[in-house]
Amino acid sequence: VRPNSTAARDVRSQLHPYTNPVAHEAQGPQIITRGDGVWVEDEDGKRYIEGLAGLWCTALGFSAEDRLARAAYDQMKALPFYHPFGHKAHVPGITLAERLLDMAPVPMSKVFFCSSGSEANDTALKLIRFYNNALGRPEKKKVISRVKAYHGVTLATASLTGLPFNHRDFDLPIPGVLHTTCPHHYRFAAPDETEEDFATRCADDLEAMIQAEGPDTIAAFFAEPVMGAGGVIVPPPTYFEKIQAVLRRHDILFVADEVICGFGRTGNPWGCQTFGLEPDMITVAKQMSSGYMPISALLLNEKIYAAVRDNAGRIGMLGHGYTYGGHPVSCAVALEALAIYAERDLFTHAATVGPHLQARLRTLADHPLVGEVRGVGLIAGVEIARDKANRQPFDPSQGAGLALGRFLHKHGVITRVIGETMAFSPPLIISMAEIDTMVDRVASALDDTLAWCRAEGLL
Ligand code: PLP
Repeated sequence: VRPNSTAARDVRSQLHPYTNPVAHEAQGPQIITRGDGVWVEDEDGKRYIEGLAGLWCTALGFSAEDRLARAAYDQMKALPFYHPFGHKAHVPGITLAERLLDMAPVPMSKVFFCSSGSEANDTALKLIRFYNNALGRPEKKKVISRVKAYHGVTLATASLTGLPFNHRDFDLPIPGVLHTTCPHHYRFAAPDETEEDFATRCADDLEAMIQAEGPDTIAAFFAEPVMGAGGVIVPPPTYFEKIQAVLRRHDILFVADEVICGFGRTGNPWGCQTFGLEPDMITVAKQMSSGYMPISALLLNEKIYAAVRDNAGRIGMLGHGYTYGGHPVSCAVALEALAIYAERDLFTHAATVGPHLQARLRTLADHPLVGEVRGVGLIAGVEIARDKANRQPFDPSQGAGLALGRFLHKHGVITRVIGETMAFSPPLIISMAEIDTMVDRVASALDDTLAWCRAEGLL
């Protein structure tokens, strides 16, 4: 890191999320200065295709979207701040709530706005307790998510998250949060276990966990339609059908975390539609505003709203809310983003180019380093393996994942390498030609990584 550089200022001043601070002090940040379409540019003028839409969020890419800037500007001028606390309301919030209820994949009654995915899931966790207390069954409050789930980073939602880095040395998970089998056939199925048999086993594991804990103690199950930050894990056929049968049998609420999948990512407007989910609550964020302003929401069905309403009415109020939840500027930008998606028919575009991304990435399956290619719509994962035939991963200490990250950078592609899986979730505006460019570059990065692995004696 050059002294007095912008990078040096960063190293001196910022503690970075999801970053190794020791490595960061040595290598400094990659400073992104501008973007256009699916491309971003760093301080040195090097251009990258943004294969992850930032953090799975910039559906419209990185161009200065004049209309979104105008929506924010106009709202700032008209009413830069207001809130929905204590019977207040503002028009962008009302209109966005109506819009979300209109779009929802299953009938929903009310929208509660927050600013982040974590806050929306945290709100779901709190309302689940409030709901069961209203029904006079306070013991029904444990929640189940899945190994490798990602639901956020507050104490409670980091507990729901099923990844070791989110728990280790944070003394998590908190009591009452349990993790059931991850539905990743490639990694967790027994040899010769079909996808459908594996799905049955996942549902049996859930049933066994519920029986062991006592069905009267389990309040809710949380799931992403496609697990994102855990490594882009697509559930096997029949999985959600079988899981939902178990939940219904035990009167357990189902929360669908659509923070990544919502708004066109899986080839339908909602991940719930792609996989036949009928949740009681839905959380959304990220692409709701194309990531341009922070905003998230929890949608709840009538059953939950009715109980929450009666309980809050009796005790005097719903004692929950965030200063910035449903910020009017964020609502205005989200409404404009949703209008642009509709005008450009962007979800249909994503459904049209999605199969091309999947087909092109699947051509990498023959590469000696590639263990599995998986995905649906415009979300995909490519997992490397040390021993392809036996699905044997690299030892993380061998650094193959880090090397792959370095070669992707060299070839001008930004994705996240999660363990040994490259995650792809490009802006929904991506064209067929840009998909080709991205996949060609990924293939070159894989070739370089293969050569590196051989030179290091890892293969
Ligand atoms: N849920 C899912 C599925 C996510 O992918 C994320 C973030 O990546 C979250 C929740 C948490 O959202 P946030 O980072 O806005 O708190």
